[in-house]
Amino acid sequence: MRRPDLHLHTTASDGIFSPAQLVQRLQRADVTLFSITDHDTMGGLEAAEEAALLRGLAFLPGVEISTEGEAEVHILGYGVARDDAVLLSFFEQMAKDRIGRILAMGDKLKRMGFSLDLERIMASAGGSIGRPHLARALVAGGYVKTVSEAFDRYLGDGKPAYVPREKMAASYAISLLKSRGAVPVLAHPGLIQWPMERILPLLKAWQEAGLMGLEVYHPSNRGDYAKWDRLARQQGLLVTGGSDFHDEDPRHGQLGETVQAWESACEDAWALYRIAHR
Ligand code: AMP
Ligand code: FE
Ligand code: FE
Ligand code: ZN
Repeated sequence: MRRPDLHLHTTASDGIFSPAQLVQRLQRADVTLFSITDHDTMGGLEAAEEAALLRGLAFLPGVEISTEGEAEVHILGYGVARDDAVLLSFFEQMAKDRIGRILAMGDKLKRMGFSLDLERIMASAGGSIGRPHLARALVAGGYVKTVSEAFDRYLGDGKPAYVPREKMAASYAISLLKSRGAVPVLAHPGLIQWPMERILPLLKAWQEAGLMGLEVYHPSNRGDYAKWDRLARQQGLLVTGGSDFHDEDPRHGQLGETVQAWESACEDAWALYRIAHR
C-alpha cells in the first residue's frame, strides 16, 4: 500500500530529526508521499526536497502556522514556494515573536529558580524555536522526567511559566496562504476543545477566507475519524492526514501512523497534491 504522511516536523522547528534523517526514516516506514510542515518556517524544505529526490519519494512542501485568535488554531499550508518573499518576511516576523516569547518564558523559569542557559537553548534550536526546546532543557537539567511533564507543570497554557503568543486570527493565516497560491488546511481540528456548534460557524467563516481542507486523519482525532471525514466531505473540504511526528514520544504520532485508518489515503492525497503542487 502506498502511504502518504502529510504532517511532519524537523529540526527546522521542534522536531528532533533533520530533514535528511527524517526522509531516511520515512522510507523505512514505507511512506511514499510526504510533506514537511514545520511551525512557522520553510527552513527545512530545500533539504527535504533534495532528500526526497535522492531517495525517490514524492514530496509536497508545506508549513504549519500557529494562530491565536478565538482559540489556538494551527493552519497547514500545502504547496508553499520556499522562495516566496512575502511568506519569508511573514515568517521572519514570526521567528522574532517566537524568540521574544521563549526568552520571556525562560525568564519566568529562571525567576522560579531553574538554572537554564538561555543562550545555549536559543543557539541549539535549528530554526523556529518553541516551547519543546525549553521543555527538553528542563528534562536535561533534571527538573522533570519528560517533555510532557514540563508542559503539564510549567509550559502549558495557564501554567506558571506560560506566556501567550502574539494574537493572530486564523483567517489571516488562511487568506495569506491562499493569496500565495498555497492550499490552507485546518490542522488537527479535534484539538480545538470546543463543541461542534461553536466550531461549525467558524469553519464556515474560515472557508470564506479561503480554507480548502480539514486534517481528518491526525492522531488526536483517533476514534472520531468517521465524524470528521463526513463533516469535511459535506462542507466540500479536502480530506488530509498525517502523523504530526516530532520525536519518538508517544504523545505525537509515529511515521505513517494515520494511514491504517485512512482508507481513501491515496485518492485524498492525490486530490490535494494536484491542486497544491506547482
Ligand atoms: P509553541 O509552538 O512554542 O507554542 O509550542 C507548541 C509545541 O509544543 C507543539 O507543536 C507540540 O510540539 C508541543 N507540545 C504542546 N503541548 C505539549 C504537551 N502537553 N506535551 C508535549 N509537547 C507539547
Ligand atoms: Fe510542535
Ligand atoms: Fe499543530
Ligand atoms: Zn504539527
